[in-house]
Amino acid sequence: MADPAADVVLQAAARAARYRAEVAARPVFPLHADPARMRAALGALPDEPSAPAAVVSELADAVEPGLVATTGPRYFGFVVGGSLDAAAAADVLAVAWDQPAFNALTSPAAAVVEEVAGGWLKDVLGLPASASVGFVTGGQGANTVCLAAARHHVLARAGWDVERGGLAGAPTLRVVAGEERHATVDRSLRLLGIGTGALETVAADDQGRIVVEDLARRLAGGQAAPTIVCLQAGNVNSGAFDDFPAAVAVAHRHGAWVHVDGAFGLWAAASPTTNSLVAGVAEADSWATDGHKWLNVPYDSGYAFCRHAAAHAASMSFTAAYLTGHGEGGLRAPSDYVPESSRRARGFATWAALRQLGRRGMAELVERCCGLARRFADQLSALDGVSVANDVVLNQVLVALGPPDRTDRVIDLVQRSGECWMGATTWHGRRLMRISVSNWSTTEADVDRSVAAIAAALASA
Ligand SMILES: *Cc1c(COP(=O)(O)O)cnc(C)c1O
Repeated sequence: MADPAADVVLQAAARAARYRAEVAARPVFPLHADPARMRAALGALPDEPSAPAAVVSELADAVEPGLVATTGPRYFGFVVGGSLDAAAAADVLAVAWDQPAFNALTSPAAAVVEEVAGGWLKDVLGLPASASVGFVTGGQGANTVCLAAARHHVLARAGWDVERGGLAGAPTLRVVAGEERHATVDRSLRLLGIGTGALETVAADDQGRIVVEDLARRLAGGQAAPTIVCLQAGNVNSGAFDDFPAAVAVAHRHGAWVHVDGAFGLWAAASPTTNSLVAGVAEADSWATDGHKWLNVPYDSGYAFCRHAAAHAASMSFTAAYLTGHGEGGLRAPSDYVPESSRRARGFATWAALRQLGRRGMAELVERCCGLARRFADQLSALDGVSVANDVVLNQVLVALGPPDRTDRVIDLVQRSGECWMGATTWHGRRLMRISVSNWSTTEADVDRSVAAIAAALASA
């Protein structure tokens, strides 16, 4: 092609395609990444312009040695999803189209795709079809948006407009959450001016689930006040689920808004083999989840859902569009449900992921990851001196490898083997290896190879 503008896009696409084709064969962690060398390769700000094609090559050459194969099949750290082929390619289009997903005037396409993909998400997740949805950066963004909506709603019921009056002089808010909540909930409370000091924590059981009797005691004690209760679908260590039917009922009896952090666990709803874990979750008031974890949409992608669409929009919108429920051209304005004004059109990749998988593919993705997690648990617990520390109800496996220093040594050896990557965690006073199976491309052979790498590390640690 003679068009340089097209050539540079094709060149980048070819480079991206090659990376994706080879990612499974790369050492999972870049063992020889040298920050000084990358810095030198990136160079100093030049005085003169450069040809786009040269820029793209230079960038890829400079940073590829430092890439972590998180999108490959043997990355089991944190809770990190891969990226489905259609979703990754759709994100390439999103960048090329360069749509500001603000409202229907800046992009009717972005507005409509979010409306359609948002409906599909609620369907797969078993959430009320009438819930509002914001396409945010991830779980952190989703928790923040949902808790902002919650703050608005419970204070409005107490006669206080927090959007206008702020929190100075507002009725005191109660925020009640399990002691094993994700750390992003605390940051959301800081960002919202509620502060972590306002948190009243509820005990968790041996799997990290909220103790409902303790929640009931907490809510019954203390002053009656506008209250938000935070529950969890998918403990970041154990994968455990709170008892939603019981916990939501108790919270609602006290007039609380119930928020559910379901960054990855909410996806249990997609399969009949796991959906009992989220029974009752749809009775909550808001739900946060990630696209870039189990749905395998590229980073960054998350969703904030609210039962009370008006509270959601009132807390986020800076126009009055939410008063009618529709923005310009009769279309929902994406920016009324997120904290950003202008942003990338995140809906395209989400639509593509769900379109590629379909209902059946989504269920199979969840089932496959859970099955592979059980395979890890079975094979690892058969090794001498190794045991599994959690009930493997989902895709998370916590592995006890011995005393803390030996555990860290083994994990370090595994990470440096380049074969796979899993991290360490401290849970219920124990130092453990944490494995999360969240990638569509992981196979039984990948698990077996990773178990072999762990066995080899155990033998030499
Ligand atoms: C990952 C995670 C989050 C944060 O999500 P990000 O996408 O990293 O912002 C919040 N809650 C839970 C339970 C998580 O697993």
